[in-house]
Amino acid sequence: MLTRRFTGEQRLFRLACRRFLAREIAPHMARWRAVGRVDREAFRRAGEAGLLCFWAAPELGGAGLADFRFDQVLIEETQSALCSDWGVALHNRVAGGYLERLATPAQQSRFLPGCVAGTTILALALTEPQAGSDLSALETRARPAAGGHFLLDGRKTYISHGAIADLFVVAARTDPDDPRRLGLFLVEGDRPGLARGRPLAKLGRHAQDTCELFFDGVRVPAENLLGELHRGLEYIKELLPLERLVAAVEALAAAWKALALTVDFARERRLFGRALADFQNTRFRLASLRASLSAAQVFVDACVAAFNDGRLGDAEAAEAKLLATELLCQTVDEGVQLHGGAGYLAESPICQLYADARVTRIFAGSSEVLKERIARNLFATQPFPFVETET
Ligand SMILES: Cc1cc2nc3c(=O)[nH]c(=O)nc-3n(C[C@H](O)[C@H](O)[C@H](O)COP(=O)(O)OP(=O)(O)OC[C@H]3O[C@@H](n4cnc5c(N)ncnc54)[C@H](O)[C@@H]3O)c2cc1C
Repeated sequence: MLTRRFTGEQRLFRLACRRFLAREIAPHMARWRAVGRVDREAFRRAGEAGLLCFWAAPELGGAGLADFRFDQVLIEETQSALCSDWGVALHNRVAGGYLERLATPAQQSRFLPGCVAGTTILALALTEPQAGSDLSALETRARPAAGGHFLLDGRKTYISHGAIADLFVVAARTDPDDPRRLGLFLVEGDRPGLARGRPLAKLGRHAQDTCELFFDGVRVPAENLLGELHRGLEYIKELLPLERLVAAVEALAAAWKALALTVDFARERRLFGRALADFQNTRFRLASLRASLSAAQVFVDACVAAFNDGRLGDAEAAEAKLLATELLCQTVDEGVQLHGGAGYLAESPICQLYADARVTRIFAGSSEVLKERIARNLFATQPFPFVETET
């Protein structure tokens, strides 16, 4: 058995997450999937349980737990409980990471207590209809206006939590002549001129609402600018490793769940007088997946440790996300195949994992974008990417 390293506190945290998910989240998932959004109350309860933005300082309500293994534990338990469309990691780290990294003390004091309590739900609004992988094609503009304000005009799409978020991190062009100069703005959901489109129907993750956003002369005070004006693209690139690490941890945990479900099914299902698990085809397929998942877990855990040490490189995070999401999609596909017709029924957990998995190869850097990033690093540095340190 390989060892994974967690502190005693993190192991207790895992049990607390598991209990919370079983009591407060999993029983509601079917209803949330039917209505296309998670109840806001779920975030409030998670806040009460100490599961939101726990990296924040205690004086702002947080627990000062910046060790990413706490996030890893919560993400793994969320996937294991089949609650992948409860966007807790999106709130805590993907959007929350921008507040952690860039918000001034004054901005943190204004916004973080609500994020920790679950009364302020976060979303990240980068993508536009013509600008997904290519953020230099963004058209949303932020123009300086009288009274120390900016005026935002434009349109975003595919925004997770678009319908329920209270606070958006929005990327907008700040220089009409240079598409690479962006600003990042904290935009409250109730600002006049901000409209939310209807939720977009999707293949999976039905409980996580995904919306268009429309900005029509939205006045945002200069105090809501995150970091320095014009440096938004640089900040987005800085935060990519964190977003990709979250995606890798999520994908790998979902893949383990898919493997476990398939192993259980193969044990139980009988055909031609024996268990499905007794066919060599079944055993070989599942054995290969298990070997790949074990190797990926060691790599992703090493990336988590590197992140905690401030050493996780952009290319390594891209490798982790590429590996974990491709492996997830392979695992759910094999899982559905081994389940036979039962795996194609919407009510079966493996079917849900299959539908939820597909987007992981598209968002947070599509597989093609990640391969480009990894290849750039490959040809610029030594092919063998490890450094040796003393233990
Ligand atoms: C369910 C869902 C939730 C999302 N949530 C959010 C969110 O909360 N916030 C947000 O800002 N965005 C969100 N997105 C958007 C997501 O990040 C984008 O969809 C993603 O970046 C891809 O952009 P695109 O859809 O415009 O595809 P495109 O960028 O147009 O890509 C089309 C194809 O071209 C390929 N491609 C791109 N670049 C290259 C290249 N250099 N070489 C070769 N091939 C390439 C891509 O891999 C893809 O196959 C979400 C998307 C989905 C589907």
